[in-house]
Amino acid sequence: MDAAWVLAVAVQTPAHAGLGDVLSYAHTAPLPAGTLVRVPLGRREVLGVVWDSRAADGAQALPDGRVADADGVLLKPVTAALDALPPLDAAWRDLVAFAARYYQRGLGEVALAALPPQLRELDGTQLARRLKRRDRQARPVAAGTAEAPSAETALALSPEQAAVLAALAEESATPAPRPALLFGSTGSGKTEVYLQAVARCLAADPGAQALVMVPEINLTPQLEARFRARFAAWGDTAVVALHSGMTNPQRLQSWLAALTGQARIVLGTRMAVFAPLPALRLIVVDEEHDPSYKQQEGARYSARDLAVWRGRRQNAQVLLGSATPSLESWHHSRPADGEAPAGRYLRLQMPSRIGAGELPRVRLVDMQQQPAKTLISAGLLDAMTQRVTRGEQCMVFLNRRGYAPVLACSDCDWKSECPHCSAYRVFHKIDRTLRCHHCGFTERVPRACPSCGNPDIAPVGRGTERLEEQLATLFAGVRRPDGEPVRIARIDADSTRHEGALEAQLALVHSGEVDVLVGTQMIAKGHDFRRITLVAAVNPDSALFSSDFRAPERLFSLLMQSAGRAGRDSAWLAAQGSQAEMWIQTFHPQHPLFDALRRHDYPRFAAQQLQDREAAAMPPFAFQALVRADARTQEAAQAFLNTAGEAADALPEAAGVMRYPAVPLAVQRVANVERAQMLLESPSRAALQRLLAAWQPVLHDLRRSPVGQGVVRWLVDVDPQSI
Ligand code: ADP
Ligand code: ZN
Ligand code: ZN
Repeated sequence: MDAAWVLAVAVQTPAHAGLGDVLSYAHTAPLPAGTLVRVPLGRREVLGVVWDSRAADGAQALPDGRVADADGVLLKPVTAALDALPPLDAAWRDLVAFAARYYQRGLGEVALAALPPQLRELDGTQLARRLKRRDRQARPVAAGTAEAPSAETALALSPEQAAVLAALAEESATPAPRPALLFGSTGSGKTEVYLQAVARCLAADPGAQALVMVPEINLTPQLEARFRARFAAWGDTAVVALHSGMTNPQRLQSWLAALTGQARIVLGTRMAVFAPLPALRLIVVDEEHDPSYKQQEGARYSARDLAVWRGRRQNAQVLLGSATPSLESWHHSRPADGEAPAGRYLRLQMPSRIGAGELPRVRLVDMQQQPAKTLISAGLLDAMTQRVTRGEQCMVFLNRRGYAPVLACSDCDWKSECPHCSAYRVFHKIDRTLRCHHCGFTERVPRACPSCGNPDIAPVGRGTERLEEQLATLFAGVRRPDGEPVRIARIDADSTRHEGALEAQLALVHSGEVDVLVGTQMIAKGHDFRRITLVAAVNPDSALFSSDFRAPERLFSLLMQSAGRAGRDSAWLAAQGSQAEMWIQTFHPQHPLFDALRRHDYPRFAAQQLQDREAAAMPPFAFQALVRADARTQEAAQAFLNTAGEAADALPEAAGVMRYPAVPLAVQRVANVERAQMLLESPSRAALQRLLAAWQPVLHDLRRSPVGQGVVRWLVDVDPQSI
């Protein structure tokens, strides 16, 4: 064989196989890094990404097709190069390599997970055909021609929007633009800022691409429609979506459009951070505080944090937006204070609502003062009744789905425990089931107590189903302005299980069909409801005393977001002679969180939280990683972690990293597997990263040693979002 080349190819090997997942293959020619190839792996043929090629001098082809390099190492040949596609560029490969390193996973695993699943099934010819199809579909239309479909035009900017866009333009023009945090009230018009920032970026450079990320695209079907309408003049493939609700062929098409530059805008969820965007100039991360940006399996990456990294690598402007920024981003955007220098991010603000609308008035109901077992206080019920009879809508928010969290026997101590988890099964009255929300185990509700035979088993506590039922009773005598009975609807994970159900239910709310909307956090986020004037949180207290230090931050942001759904149409509100309100029923009205909420004062809340965090040396003043082990027994899980921990202590890299003992997870057993975790913490991100990297091989070895015998799986979570 004359010209043999050795290619390093990233492939997805079975997790923790210890193979390493960049494997060497032989090929007759060099291939540019980033080329997709098909290679043999074991008995299968798999997709891989060329990471690097080098000449293999003195290599010999063997009769069986393999190649022996000069040292006699046997290499299998590459089966096929998918070279109809442009190679994935260095910026993309760097992003993948960084994510793999930072989140402690295999390079091949992260690279392959970032590719659309359907790529794995296609050969070169099929792929070339898909590309051609794309070309035919893409008909760029010149802006302003008669051919352009009905385009939505840009709105006249409010002074605050104009100021923000001007500051952003100035920052983008600098050689290394800082990430910008747009701190804008709910209803301040952040979406219009995103739209115009994107428009300007595309107009400035004929090839430029923008990435717009949202937490959960299904929750905001309006947003995709708005982007399509706004950018209709750029051609019908200018905007593509990328999220897990799409079919594999759709995802592949979007991905190809991004890679080839046909797509100018990729609108997607966290996975979109890995979209190949060779001409990326702008990244928008909407609702940047949202926990769903953190991936919860495989490489547990934060798409927001990777967006910031990617922006710097590709010299693209990053714009993070939120009414309740994460404390991390808020801290990074702090202004200079005396001696202390400003943070690395630029902070931009839009405090006012569009149309001089006011944020809803917050009213706290002290549940201590209410008769025992009050569900909806008399004051709240009265306020809701008045609004509904005037034709306004109300939203009642309860973060627990199902009818009741527990079913219990009144005679003995039987409760609806899940036999497989350390948790109760939730009672769902609609289909009369007991369902475990952790492992999915579902059974019909027993007719009598399984333990003592008592037929009197009753629900304890309440979820959205029960709340819906109770509201129906409470509003039975109330009429809408048209004389019809009040209509109550519920939106949660159960009511929206079927394809298209959420869209249909949201449409009913928007059209005014629904008077009272009950739901979980699904209804609290993002929606631009125009006729909701009252929002109520009926039981937010549990998060006040959670052991997770981020619980108050989450609760505050959820309540602010919920409040943000009320009174979004200020002109209509004024015409109604009405004022928007947010009601909160709590047993702890004195809690400082509610005080800040009443003033809509995120900065005050953040300052107080950051002070606590700094005093306790917690993020963002420290960096954390969790190591988790799942095992047959809790002892085995903890023994594995503690042994691993002792091994970590012995590493030179352990200096400067605090290690805590292994503890069970809050829900300790799920699907008959016991779970434990161990926290590592350091004031230095680099120190923590060095230890994790050095520790990784130790953990792999330990898994194969006797102490790893009972371990089902282990994983590392860097910058965990819940502790
Ligand atoms: P946010 O995302 O900040 O909560 P939105 O982007 O949903 O707010 O904007 C709130 C409402 O204000 C939307 O109905 C939007 O169409 C409208 N809006 C935004 N900017 C303008 C503007 N410059 N002029 C008129 N209406 C606007
Ligand atoms: Zn019983
Ligand atoms: Zn279970």
